[in-house]
Amino acid sequence: MHSRAAARLRTLRTRSFATAASNPPLVALSSTARAQAERISAEWKGTSATGGNTKNLIGGEFVESKAEKWIDVVDPATQSLLTRVPETTSQEFEQAVDAASHAYKTWSHSSVLTRQRFVMELQYQLRQNSDAVASSIVLEQGKTFADAHGDLLRGLQVVETACGIPTALLGNTIEVSKDMDTSSRRLPLGVCASIAPFNFPAMIPLWTIPMAIATGNTLIVKPSERDPGAAMIIAELCHRAGLPAGVLNVVHGTVPTVNAICDHPSIKAISFVGGDRAGAHIYERGRKTGKRVQANLGAKNHAVLMPDANKNHALNSLIGAAFGAAGQRCMAISVAVLVGTAQQWLPELIERAKKLKVNQGFEKGADLGPVISPAAKARITSLIASAEEQGGKILLDGQNIQVPDYPDGNWVGPTIVEATTDMRCYREEIFGPVLVVIPADTLDDAISIINANKYGNGTAIFTQSGATARKFEVGVEVGQVGINVPIPVPLPMFSWSGNRASFLGDIPFYGRNGIDFYTQNKTTTALWKAEDAIGNKASVDMPTHH
Ligand code: NAD
Repeated sequence: MHSRAAARLRTLRTRSFATAASNPPLVALSSTARAQAERISAEWKGTSATGGNTKNLIGGEFVESKAEKWIDVVDPATQSLLTRVPETTSQEFEQAVDAASHAYKTWSHSSVLTRQRFVMELQYQLRQNSDAVASSIVLEQGKTFADAHGDLLRGLQVVETACGIPTALLGNTIEVSKDMDTSSRRLPLGVCASIAPFNFPAMIPLWTIPMAIATGNTLIVKPSERDPGAAMIIAELCHRAGLPAGVLNVVHGTVPTVNAICDHPSIKAISFVGGDRAGAHIYERGRKTGKRVQANLGAKNHAVLMPDANKNHALNSLIGAAFGAAGQRCMAISVAVLVGTAQQWLPELIERAKKLKVNQGFEKGADLGPVISPAAKARITSLIASAEEQGGKILLDGQNIQVPDYPDGNWVGPTIVEATTDMRCYREEIFGPVLVVIPADTLDDAISIINANKYGNGTAIFTQSGATARKFEVGVEVGQVGINVPIPVPLPMFSWSGNRASFLGDIPFYGRNGIDFYTQNKTTTALWKAEDAIGNKASVDMPTHH
């Protein structure tokens, strides 16, 4: 590691878990980043980007935690301390659950039009304040400003889809016998919880906030302790959009806070997105107390390049999907399977990858930013090194990339490794800008490789042949398939459909299934005999349903 970076890291580590002191100067931030950090700290109640503390949101109030343990949030491009998040105390956690339980009594009976108005107003607030959310993401997560806007936009689309909640919640009714009707309708579950990863600080909280709340639940969000700012801004925007106190609460922390969510008897459902280890733990522990759990986990997504593909489109798509967001997307393409003569495109793939600009996210022309932490960088580089140890070939090596003006960043440049399927770099999720290339003779071989991999999040094929695409689509056992589309995440009128080891649970996120996850059916059978009817004076007022 660069010696300055190492020294700075040592200083930072000693600060971790210390009680908050006065804000340190933001000397290491670039002038653009510093201006953004100061604006966020001045304008938003729940978060800071100038060294102050991130607050919990409990019962409509942004409250300073009395935690003894604090976790530093640092800019991954400079290691500057931006904020600290508390390891929420059990008493504070209990207050958040109480606030959500109390708010549930009225929110669950609010009219569906009230809830629709909230999501409509939220989409407006998010659009108006998109620069603030995106800036917070650049500072804390490190992705480029344009990509941070994309992060928010993909969440915003879930909010927009939730605006159709009155139609989505329509029930059924039928006369089952003379004068007897059965109706079924969807009712909320109660207090729900959402636990988020670091890589999409806006999109993933927005996968759950509009869906849980529009269906009449109340929610406790636990953002990633590494980049909580976007979730805090979104929470404040929920209040500006008219959300009553206690319907949305935000608590911070790590394993103890997550375990408190899993164990609390008043919490009825958990939505988790993150890595395999945490996901398996949360799924097991949450199910033990009878909760509904949906858990989106890790991935290894393959793109198959057929020799008849539109080469320019295929190579550009591959580069964007492998290296965008520094490969820290669960739908990043991390494996390219080059079939037959498509293997001859490898030198061109490498040339195009070399042209990508690695830089701090606010800098003009940046294609990818740093990875989230020095530990993430160490893990990524150890997996690259393992490829060489196991007989793979490093065709493009981004391990020692230097970014002028940002000597302390967690930089890894685009890396391309030729490997075989028995190597660690192929079997494990790298979650960095590393593309593993596997040659295959035929389409059948490519399909077998993909189906032998344990993950099932996403896959793509590039071909000009409908027959080839169809055969691939039918044969491949992966939940989200792209045909000439590199990151086939369905828009939220559909539901997330990653499968196999990329998902634990029964009901996936957002779309029709998202409504199912956050609701339970109630059927009612009523007998109103015609002979018992009495005459009533009809009301002539226009019904308003408020
Ligand atoms: P992570 O699992 O480290 O953290 C996710 C959340 O779980 C955080 O809020 C964290 O505080 C908590 N957590 C972490 N370890 C825990 C433990 N041992 N016990 C209880 N809680 C714990 O994940 P991350 O590094 O923030 O995110 C990257 C991972 O998320 C990658 O594996 C990526 O593939 C996955 N991901 C998946 C999807 C998807 O939709 N499939 C989307 C985004 C990210």
